[in-house]
This record gives sequence, structure tokens and C-alpha cells, in this order.
Amino acid sequence: MQSQSLSRNKPAGDTGSTSGAAPKVGFVSLGCPKALVDSEQILTQLRAEGYETAKSYDGADLVIVNTCGFIDAAVQESLDAIGEALAENGKVIVTGCLGAKKDASGDDIIMKVHPKVLAVTGPHALAEVMDSVHTHLPKPHEPFLDLIPAQGVKLTPKHYAYLKISEGCNHRCSFCIIPSMRGDLVSRPIADLMLEAENLFKSGVKELLVISQDTSAYGVDVKFRTGFWNGRPIKTHMTQLTEALGELAKSYGAWIRLHYVYPYPHVDQIIPMMGDGHILPYLDIPMQHAHPEVLKRMKRPASGEKNLDRIQAWRKMNPDLTIRSTFIAGFPGETEAEFEYLLDFLKEAQIDRLGCFAYSPVEGATANELANPVPEEVREERRGRVMLLQEEISRNRLKAKVGKTVRVLIDEINRTGGVGRTSADAPEIDGVVYVKPPFEPHKKLAVGQFVDVKITTSDAHDLWGEAQ
Ligand code: SF4
Repeated sequence: MQSQSLSRNKPAGDTGSTSGAAPKVGFVSLGCPKALVDSEQILTQLRAEGYETAKSYDGADLVIVNTCGFIDAAVQESLDAIGEALAENGKVIVTGCLGAKKDASGDDIIMKVHPKVLAVTGPHALAEVMDSVHTHLPKPHEPFLDLIPAQGVKLTPKHYAYLKISEGCNHRCSFCIIPSMRGDLVSRPIADLMLEAENLFKSGVKELLVISQDTSAYGVDVKFRTGFWNGRPIKTHMTQLTEALGELAKSYGAWIRLHYVYPYPHVDQIIPMMGDGHILPYLDIPMQHAHPEVLKRMKRPASGEKNLDRIQAWRKMNPDLTIRSTFIAGFPGETEAEFEYLLDFLKEAQIDRLGCFAYSPVEGATANELANPVPEEVREERRGRVMLLQEEISRNRLKAKVGKTVRVLIDEINRTGGVGRTSADAPEIDGVVYVKPPFEPHKKLAVGQFVDVKITTSDAHDLWGEAQ
């Protein structure tokens, strides 16, 4: 989970200051990269209209909290953040997934816990959020449109950014309430995405992370209609979008990384595009389980696909392919045999990057009504077994990289050198490479720079190496 918060005590270190009189909005952003993109769009619009942003509660005239409502811990974190903003500032507008969530009696959760908030909207509600801002903190007289960078306001570091290609989801996985909060799939026009990508590259972005709820489904809602970019027809389809982004990335020497891809047959066409170093050989495929009966109970998309065969075929096409996935242990009704089937799958599949969660009953999810829920201690114990197995798999897979030279994008400079990531590492969720700088002082490492690194050491998560 990402979170950007306001400080209580820091003096108002404002960003984007345009004039002393402009109204100031504080922003707290919680949740996943999709929520982060919503936050960026709201911040961009605020800047476009001449509002300033404040870094502390007491420097803000009003605070917006973008919430997450996915699991119970995220709900609590969001409610706490709203409480803090109310206590520290008092004028609070709430948006995001938790805003769309009701309790068992159908009442709005946020209004029940925090009746003093000024307004509540669901996710992806830029227009409603701006309406509430206008009501409670009137727009500055002069808009400062020319002060807005073309790429908008970003919450990520300058050298990487998320590109949200669609909103919502047509699936109804039984453990998930996202469709009830974010609605059905709505794909963004391909020309808008290409323009946004180009502006981001022009602003210095070196890695673009494509996100959505279901990247493989891009364009389904508009029947893959043809759009136009630079006078050229491009279909609203995952393969054509990936191809076009790859070409654009190539002209800026940048990376494209694909997240939330379901293993539908057309993903096979993406793998050959991963050969030239711009569409990264990396697929984030949330599989959640391997046993067909559990997948059926989960109502997972592409559950009929033979994932193991697919992964093996992809690795034959591109041996450098990194696969990241998430799994749930202890889903309702999961028997010991079904769980062991998952372990066997993981041994065979050799997933490079893996997250495993013990099943958590999210309020409103239909999976909670399934028979034979697994006791909490068994869920946790199974999660532990998956992570133990994965640690060994990951350790061995990373060990195989020792001695190789890999391309690294530097994220951070510290006292001992740099910290960066390879094509196998997405920011925030995967491992990192600790890079020893070159001896020559004129070859200093810099954030956002690509550097070739010879790998010397590894553990179960990270790599260490020397810049070449
Ligand atoms: S694919 Fe399933 S888990 Fe993912 S957002 Fe859609 S319903 Fe939720």
C-alpha cells in the first residue's frame, strides 16, 4: 500500500506556490497505484485551477483524503487518516474506494464514523471532488493553467509513473468488492493514453507502469474500437496498445512494465514484443490459486487456462521473463489437498516474485457465504508455508543472476552508492539492486539513470553488484 500523508508539525512547506493568497489544499493519498492515479488527477486539476498544495495540516485551508477500502486493515487506516485530518484541520473532503462502501445496514461507513466530514465520494470521481472543493473553498479568481506541466502533477518520483488504462472491472471474483466500488470496465481512449505517455516521457519518466484492474481486458467495453494516434489507426486492445507504447518508449530510451495481466491467449502475442528492452520481460499476473475447484469458487477470470503450460511456453519464448503473482491461502473450503496442489504448482511454476495473503473476509464479498471457512490459524499457517517455499525458490532464482550483467534503473543514491531495479523488479513490491558506484569519479550514479551492473551477491529478495 502506498500512502502520502500530511505532517502535523512541519511548517507549511508548500509545493507549486503561485501566490501568497491562493487557497491551499492538503492531500492524503492512501491505497493502491490506481488510487494514486486518482490522487494525481485531482492534484493536477487543483493546480490547473490555481489552488496550492500544503504539506502540513495547519498550512491547509481544507484537506482531501483519498481512501482505500479493500481489506479491513486498509479500512481502518483510512478511517484513522480521516480522524487525524478532522482533528488537525477540521475541513475534510473524503474520496476513494471507502467512500463507496456501505455497512451491513446499508449506511455510509464514513459518515457513520466521521459525521463531520464535508463531503464523501467514491473512487475515480474527479468532477464530484472538484465540486465539493469549489463549495467549501471557492476557486481562486485567476486560473493558472499555464503553470501546469503537460504530464500533470505526479506523486511518484520524476523517473517513473503509473499509466492507468481503464477503470472498473467486468469480473465478479467472489473475494473482491472492487466492481461494486468502481463499477464495470471503462477503457480510456487509446489516443489519450498515448498522449499521456508521451508527455510523461517528455517530462523525464524512464519507466511507465501500466495498471488497471484487468489489463488484458483493455478495450472489451468499446468492442476494441479503432482510435487514432498521430494520424495512425490503433485498436483499443491490449496488444496494440503495448506495441504502440513500446515504440514510443524506444524513442525515449524508456521502459514499459505491465501489471494486472490475466493469462488469456492473446497475452502470447505480447511476449515476442519483450525482446528489445523497452517492453520489459515482466508480467504481473494475479493468479490467486492453482487448484481448479478453488479457482471456480473464487470465480476467477481465465481460470480455465492452463497456467503452468502457458508460463513454460512463455519462458521458452523469452528465458528472461519475470513472473510476479499473488496468491490467497486458506480461501473458504480450501482442503489440505487443494492447498498442497497449490504448493506443487508453485514448485513447478517457479514464480519469480510472489506475494501470498491469508484469506481475509472482506465485508460484502460473496466468498464469505461459502461453506467450510478455513480457521484463521490454518489460513496463517498455510500462508507461512507458501512464503517459506517461495523464499527458497526466490533465493535460487536470484542466485542464478550472480555473475551476469544487468541493466538497472537507479531509484535512490545513498552513502554507499545507489539503489535501483532491474527489469525483474517493479517499484514498491519487488526486490532492489544495491549498486556499488564505479571507481571513476566522473561516472557518478544519478537517480533516473540506467546503468549496467555486474551482479556479485544475492539473497532471497535482493541483489548486490558493481556498476560497469
Ligand atoms: S479481476 Fe476479480 S479481483 Fe480483480 S478487480 Fe476484478 S473482480 Fe476484483
